[in-house]
Amino acid sequence: MVIESQSMDKEANIVKAARQHAEMNQFFTGGFAQRAGTSQPEIAQLQASPEAPAQAVAELETIAEEVRACRKCDLGSSRTNAVPGEGNPRARIMFVGEAPGGDEDIQARPFVGRAGQLLDKIIAACGLNRSEVFIGNILKCRPPDNRDPRPDEIISCLPYLQRQIEVIQPEIIVALGAHAARTLLNTNKSIGQLRGRFHEYYSGIDRPPVKLMATYHTAYLLRNYTPESRRRVWEDMKKVLAELGLPVPQQRKQS
Ligand code: URA
Repeated sequence: MVIESQSMDKEANIVKAARQHAEMNQFFTGGFAQRAGTSQPEIAQLQASPEAPAQAVAELETIAEEVRACRKCDLGSSRTNAVPGEGNPRARIMFVGEAPGGDEDIQARPFVGRAGQLLDKIIAACGLNRSEVFIGNILKCRPPDNRDPRPDEIISCLPYLQRQIEVIQPEIIVALGAHAARTLLNTNKSIGQLRGRFHEYYSGIDRPPVKLMATYHTAYLLRNYTPESRRRVWEDMKKVLAELGLPVPQQRKQS
């Protein structure tokens, strides 16, 4: 009896995941993703151009090496792999999440699980792709059982992200979820209070602030997969695109 009800739960979860996947495609790509005719340069073109990117690539690799060797907190010994972050060294948009989860810990890459697949859809809906943005996290190592980051872990790890931001100099940081937004803005406000408008992230007294848009984390979106929460994230991303002067893909009429 118990086994039967467990297998029914499993089946219901599979059906739910399949439905979300179909809706995700429809909402974040079927509906919106008409790839912009002229968008940012692709990473290959950037790497083909001389000087500046090569230095940024080298600096990011130095940071990544330090992250891989890091033992500043206990997560250094519980992780499988550190996840330094990845993407375009000259990205105009930098996405910042909370911490790697199980899939990321195994693959050593950020946002590759279900939350990452949804982030890919959102990026595609913006007319961009992963190689045009940079994706990182507040913590570079997975907290056991995906628990919330602890303050001591954030204090140890944050300098890596701060240095990545200094190297990349993004025009806009998109903070995904409360942990990223609160940490970067040094506030205790809720994500509901912070999302939907631009804030300023200060990387140093001698540097201009970077615009920061806070929005819901994609893992939250998967748990609360309502038209309203998806609409809010899309509204937030449209503001980011408008601020960068990038075309905002229009919703196609569904036939
Ligand atoms: N959630 C995050 O915050 N970061 C990841 O890399 C994956 C899931």
